[in-house]
Amino acid sequence: MAKTIQAIRGMNDCLPSQSPLWQKLESTIKNVVSAYGYSEVRMPIVEATHLFSRAIGEVTDVVEKEMYTFDDRNGDSLTLRPEGTAGCVRAGIENGLLYNQEHRLWYIGPMFRHERPQKGRYRQFHQFGVEVFGLNGPDVDAELIMMTARMWRELGIAEHVRLELNSIGSPQARANYRQALVDFLMQHESVLDEDSKRRMQTNPLRVLDTKNADIQAILVDAPQLGDYLDDESKQHFARLCELLDAAGIEYQVNHRLVRGLDYYNRTVFEWITDSLGAQGTVCGGGRYDGLVEQLGGKATPAVGFAMGLERLVLMLENLNQDDVRPAVDVYMVTAGEGAMAVGMKLAERLREQVPGLRVMSHFGGGSFKKQFKRADKVGASVALVLGEDEVANGTVALKDLKGGEQQTLNQDEIAASLKALI
Ligand code: ATP
Ligand code: MG
Repeated sequence: MAKTIQAIRGMNDCLPSQSPLWQKLESTIKNVVSAYGYSEVRMPIVEATHLFSRAIGEVTDVVEKEMYTFDDRNGDSLTLRPEGTAGCVRAGIENGLLYNQEHRLWYIGPMFRHERPQKGRYRQFHQFGVEVFGLNGPDVDAELIMMTARMWRELGIAEHVRLELNSIGSPQARANYRQALVDFLMQHESVLDEDSKRRMQTNPLRVLDTKNADIQAILVDAPQLGDYLDDESKQHFARLCELLDAAGIEYQVNHRLVRGLDYYNRTVFEWITDSLGAQGTVCGGGRYDGLVEQLGGKATPAVGFAMGLERLVLMLENLNQDDVRPAVDVYMVTAGEGAMAVGMKLAERLREQVPGLRVMSHFGGGSFKKQFKRADKVGASVALVLGEDEVANGTVALKDLKGGEQQTLNQDEIAASLKALI
């Protein structure tokens, strides 16, 4: 036998048993963003490598070690997108959408990062993201957070996530803070790991983002970025906090929250759960007012977030929020060729008469017993049975697979009894 071919490590199939939960998650969050008037945008999965190195920053985990980069047949360096913001900004600039305009956009799709696969961390994973262009006030930042809070409520996980919030100010404020942070880090150099030592030279704020617990412990006493903020950023942040208070959204200000990508300024936030171990951030976002200009467009304020769908699916499963409607409502059971043809016709009619009803026809023959077993297996709640008598009389037997009752009805009248299933 030929050796079987396996999927790439860290890249998962979504099997039919899992897809209903994914669909429920996706439709819930899409409905929420629609309720705020946001529109979908779709970008390519592959982009020029320098888009990401320029947007995300050379000295970041993503660009330093996680990108899937390759030369295509023309020798151009391409990268499988590790996140959606850079491509979205590229698309906005290229299509003339950004200058002096307002856009409220969302996207969904696979992202690729060469990380060590573990629970909640994969090499192909999926993000749902939102990006807003052309608005610089804290009002839209608050709306994005309110929108995510609504998603958690609708998914039934609101009790299990908490919001961390910070302002990282203007580039100038960060430059002022940088020296104070470097001075502090120098005093603790012996505790720093290689990554942090290097980052202390190139991009010291990134050290605040470390996952190393020993370094995290010393950072408790580090100077705080909040003390270095420019006045405008301070006001922006204060107003955001007021708006969240007014909306009844709880948050914790975390002065060390800087996020892993370089393009952020002012507002940054993360939604974190304790139910997934180390992979606890389910959604992260913030303002990136400088990125459009940095990528060659005219200066345009922007803010957005992205959430990891695998982590949300894991949460829904852990919290038993994974009860979803089975793929099939009605299973058509038929005795013999003639009845099968009548059954397929009846099934077509029902699909028209009861929009949204899922009717599966049994194929391949076999006894009623075998067909009922199959009906149970696919999760149907009702079987419609067409034996010789029913075909001759224009009737059909409706068997309730959950309760067990059975009644015989006219084929023309059956639709009304099935409406309750959807
Ligand atoms: P982490 O600190 O967990 O590595 P990150 O800061 O790198 O996350 P972002 O770039 O902010 O993550 O991406 C937004 C969200 O996408 C994360 O909060 C997480 O839910 C999800 N995510 C990021 N990387 C992965 C991955 N490798 N596998 C699964 N989900 C991921
Ligand atoms: Mg990461």
